[in-house]
Amino acid sequence: MNEDRVSKQDVHDVIIIGGGPAGLTATIYAARARLSTLLIEKLGTGGQAALTDRVENYPGFIGGVSGPELVHSMEEQAKSFGMISASGEVARIACSDESSIKSIYVDDEPEPFKALSVIIAAGHEQRKLGVPGESEYTGRGVSYCATCDGAFFRDLSVVVIGGGDVAVEDGLFLTKFANKVYLIHRRDRLRATKILQERAFRHDKIELILDSVVDEILGQTMVEGVRVRNLKKREVTELKVDGVFVFIGWTSNLSFLGDVVETSEDGYIIVDTEMRTSREGVFACGDCCRKGLKQIVNACGDGATAAFSAQHYVERIKGEEYV
Ligand code: NAP
Repeated sequence: MNEDRVSKQDVHDVIIIGGGPAGLTATIYAARARLSTLLIEKLGTGGQAALTDRVENYPGFIGGVSGPELVHSMEEQAKSFGMISASGEVARIACSDESSIKSIYVDDEPEPFKALSVIIAAGHEQRKLGVPGESEYTGRGVSYCATCDGAFFRDLSVVVIGGGDVAVEDGLFLTKFANKVYLIHRRDRLRATKILQERAFRHDKIELILDSVVDEILGQTMVEGVRVRNLKKREVTELKVDGVFVFIGWTSNLSFLGDVVETSEDGYIIVDTEMRTSREGVFACGDCCRKGLKQIVNACGDGATAAFSAQHYVERIKGEEYV
């Protein structure tokens, strides 16, 4: 916990939970509106974007921008407006109908941080495959981050599982290192954006294995292969590979919320167009919200809106003299 400049006695105007593009943008807007703003982040800032090799569709960058570079700039921009941050994992939020003050408990600390408003920008986490070998070989050939681990597979062969943007984009990235990339997808067509599909189809290191799932990850101490089942032909084959990259989407990870705000059946926060949740004074933005398109650009837009709404809320309750 980095509490150098953060006193637990202070009641902040806003606490922002999560330092990805949504949370950093909310921080920029809130700090610039001169709200006393505290950002709480579990690991480093940047979220999923910090693990993305190249972001091609964030406006303003012809030829794209590296994910870490983009979020680093956002963080520096937030700092230039006086961002204060604390590191730690939010364990619980406590709100009551009797007080406007919300308590944010971090790690196993008994004393909470306090704020008049909260913006949840906690993102979501990568879905696991749930097959034998996956947890055993995580970190020993099984990875969920091509940017972090790709270089370990120089001149080796890997499988990428999934058919979305991340699987195809990161599969293409892995061709910089691996000599062979098998892209295994459960259906007969990919979900990824067409321009990414076109690049994958014409890449001589990428081989598509469609209508297929991985039933088991094989090895002794490290990954040595995968057992692949073709769903149409009902054939099972073994593929010799050194690495397995799992990119099969995301799942919400908001257990710390309890029943503080309303969530969808699949666990994402329900917000209105102003990023208000079902709880007064609690806002949400970015990938932790229920929405169709999950991109950096609209996470940033959500963050700006959430901060704007929090600002108006705080001004209103301060005018009313909060209890
Ligand atoms: P996604 O779009 O949800 O794709 C997940 C993929 O995994 C799908 O192809 C899905 O198959 C497959 N899948 C899901 N569960 C599976 C299972 N149990 N076994 C095997 N396969 C499984 O997720 P994503 O690729 O991580 O992308 C997340 C979001 O970020 C998307 O909105 C995406 O557009 C966005 N994104 C955009 C960019 C970009 O614009 N450059 C880059 C990265 C991410 P089905 O197709 O059969 O459902």
